[in-house]
Amino acid sequence: MAVVKVSLLDALHEHFGFDSFKGNQEIIINSILSGKDTFVIMPTGGGKSLCYQLPALISPGCALIVSPLIALMKNQVDLVRSYSSKDNVAHFLNSTLSKAQIKKVRTDLLGGKTKLLYVAPETLTKQENLDFFRDLEISFIAVDEAHCISEWGHDFRPEYRRLKEMIDMINPDLPIIALTATATPKVQSDIVKNLVLREPEIYISSFNRPNLYYEIRPKRKKEQTIREIVKFIHLHKGKSGIIYTLNRKTTEELADMLMANNIKAVAYHAGLDANTRAQRQDMFLLEEVEVIVATIAFGMGIDKPDVRFVIHYNIPKSLENYYQETGRAGRDGLEGICLCFYSHKDVQKLEHLMRDKPLSEREMGAQLINETVAYAESSVCRRKVILHYFGEPLEKENCGNCDNCRNPKEKIEVKNRVVIV
Ligand code: ADP
Ligand code: MG
Repeated sequence: MAVVKVSLLDALHEHFGFDSFKGNQEIIINSILSGKDTFVIMPTGGGKSLCYQLPALISPGCALIVSPLIALMKNQVDLVRSYSSKDNVAHFLNSTLSKAQIKKVRTDLLGGKTKLLYVAPETLTKQENLDFFRDLEISFIAVDEAHCISEWGHDFRPEYRRLKEMIDMINPDLPIIALTATATPKVQSDIVKNLVLREPEIYISSFNRPNLYYEIRPKRKKEQTIREIVKFIHLHKGKSGIIYTLNRKTTEELADMLMANNIKAVAYHAGLDANTRAQRQDMFLLEEVEVIVATIAFGMGIDKPDVRFVIHYNIPKSLENYYQETGRAGRDGLEGICLCFYSHKDVQKLEHLMRDKPLSEREMGAQLINETVAYAESSVCRRKVILHYFGEPLEKENCGNCDNCRNPKEKIEVKNRVVIV
């Protein structure tokens, strides 16, 4: 790939106005510019987008960015455009565009004005698009949220599985950049295998989030748990927080209960129509409400830097989910409190949800749940367990910022299972 001769730092300043690279960004960008397949593993908020945006802007041709969510795509394109004086530097192509809009995108692409084109995997299943891309100068393909390829990830999307096949139909020689915030070794090897990355340069950043405080609390009666939550929120009056629950009904119930206790809250789940969801998400982002009570439908791609707490009303279905969901707290580097309520009953609910799934999926699900249960019941430093799960050692013996480090607990055996008291 021929690259316009400018220093990367100058390019960073010129295109984004930043003075320095974050973490591994520069070395990753150099790898991409040298035309190598590159695998970027970096926690949420680490600055993955820039790793492909900058090389796309300074390389000849246009980069194709595969992104799973249509809503995120628009947001990303708006962001890139906001850094640039030209609107046509970035476009997206998906099912929401009208015929006229598609024509405009194509004209800009053919005119060589567009450096980044965001596409949904579905866009690549259409033969006419593949034919169009085949004749276009493409710099590289970036697969964002690449964990969607893996059933071991927290957001499996079957259509991601066909990406390599479709990329090959455009041009099998194109460099591929995969990016994800998922660090489990199983997901990583799925990604490398599925995208058939060729001797990829792999860059793994630390997953430690030192500013997050982790605490597990035993969940007793519903009323008591709600009282605890209300008390917690009152102690953090005026701060923004997310409460995750397992099902839709509970989001509504809990939001009502909080409102009855003078806490401004809204519920959010996939059963609401798109308008209501967008409206409620904005209410949270604009701080018209303090708390959003949501199912896991809420969160991916939400960039609110000052979320001060994340409460899990039910234990999540995997440690990966737990990490991603708690990761939405304290993205600005300041305090983030992660509280999780844990009961055996909720574990059974999770198991129950899988009852109609095929055996292999149930087994996989059970393993993920067991790992979460082990985490909840452990008396070891929480951060150590989380990082260990991602294959990363914790440098210190204890983090000093989790319940187990601050108040070492006694363990008792109940019905052959260890529970915390
Ligand atoms: P990720 O996709 O890894 O979750 P993003 O790409 O959304 O993270 O970036 C997170 C934030 O970091 C964004 O607000 C982005 O503008 C900012 N950012 C990225 N790179 C830099 C940099 N080099 N200097 C300052 N801010 C940066
Ligand atoms: Mg991202």
